[in-house]
Amino acid sequence: MPGFEIFGDEEKKEVADVLDTGVLFRYGFEKVRNGQFKAREFEKSLCTITGSKYSHLCSSGTAALSTALAACGIGAGDEVIVPPFTFVATFEAVLTAGAVPVFCDIDETLCLDPDCIEAAITPRTKAVVPVHMCGSMARIDEIKDVCRKKGLILLEDACQSLGATYQGKAVGTFGLAGCFSFDSVKTVTCGEGGGIITDDPKVYEKADQFADHGHDHLGGPDRGADGHPIIGTNFRISELNAAVGLAQLRKLDQILKIQRENKRAIKDAMADLPEVSFRYIPDAKGDSATFLSFFLPTEERARQVAKNLAANGAGAAFWYDNNWHYYKKWDHLKEMKRAATLPFELCSSLPDYKTLVLEESDSIMKRTLSMQIMLSWTKQDIENRISAIIKSFKG
Ligand SMILES: *Cc1c(COP(=O)(O)O)cnc(C)c1O
Repeated sequence: MPGFEIFGDEEKKEVADVLDTGVLFRYGFEKVRNGQFKAREFEKSLCTITGSKYSHLCSSGTAALSTALAACGIGAGDEVIVPPFTFVATFEAVLTAGAVPVFCDIDETLCLDPDCIEAAITPRTKAVVPVHMCGSMARIDEIKDVCRKKGLILLEDACQSLGATYQGKAVGTFGLAGCFSFDSVKTVTCGEGGGIITDDPKVYEKADQFADHGHDHLGGPDRGADGHPIIGTNFRISELNAAVGLAQLRKLDQILKIQRENKRAIKDAMADLPEVSFRYIPDAKGDSATFLSFFLPTEERARQVAKNLAANGAGAAFWYDNNWHYYKKWDHLKEMKRAATLPFELCSSLPDYKTLVLEESDSIMKRTLSMQIMLSWTKQDIENRISAIIKSFKG
């Protein structure tokens, strides 16, 4: 999965370009920057890769989500439907917007179940944020249909799934906007970074402004002459981060090819294990293959196999117990532990996250294991891993 495994001279060169000019800021300094615009170049490249009209880079995937929510007009008191299996950033961004996260079950795609959305809709529901988890996709066309039918904004958290497609179309391009993360462990890394993509010029304009203190970027060389059509904040990326990401983005095809080959080898070797069934992938060809996720028949067996895999040096994630990715362990959310009052707490009828039970999600996650697919594996590593896996199912 992680792009950091293949850092090389390409990343060093891009960073050196920036340091040579001394301009680490993405805007202005035209006379001294020697034509270097790494963030801008990254954005262009992200548009080409995803087939979207506009993109804007931010300082993180979380900042990208916050920016996208703001740019889509989602704010105080609005309800936003999100899945319980994600990274905490998804609901954090909703809370930061002053909006209310409403959790809805996942299905065997390990992503939001389109069949559960309608039951969660209230008069205050404004948006649905499915998360394309672990490199693969939700049933995004069905989710899009529900959103269209119900007049809801679709915003995709594709932070973990750069390079994934559904029927040839990039994840993140199905809704009004999509977000990616380029943090240190993602498929392509900037060190820290995130990106928004959209085809809507108004959403793009608002995102571009919001992430830079509301600057309209129309003042020419004098930044002080920019207008401020909206109130924003600072979610800018630095040229240094963008430079690393730019070199990484050029390696995306290579990354996807290696991931897919490595995943195929492991998956084929596991195909005959009678206890195993694989995560449902709506379009297998579009899987970015960062993870291999599979189901065991029972929770007990999943725990045992996870233990055996760890002991045999082929560890797999058991997300059900994970502090950061599954709602069961989000005690800080359940108890509403926060630094200060959140805007949505001033509104009426707040959900009680303490009593939240999502049975369908639990029944799936209790039986799910995920193996991260690495780029640096040699043929020998893969063979060793396969032996370790086979052995783990015997115990
Ligand atoms: C990584 C991640 C984010 C946040 O990205 P950062 O760049 O780390 O802020 C959001 N959502 C999901 C699903 C992620 O995996």
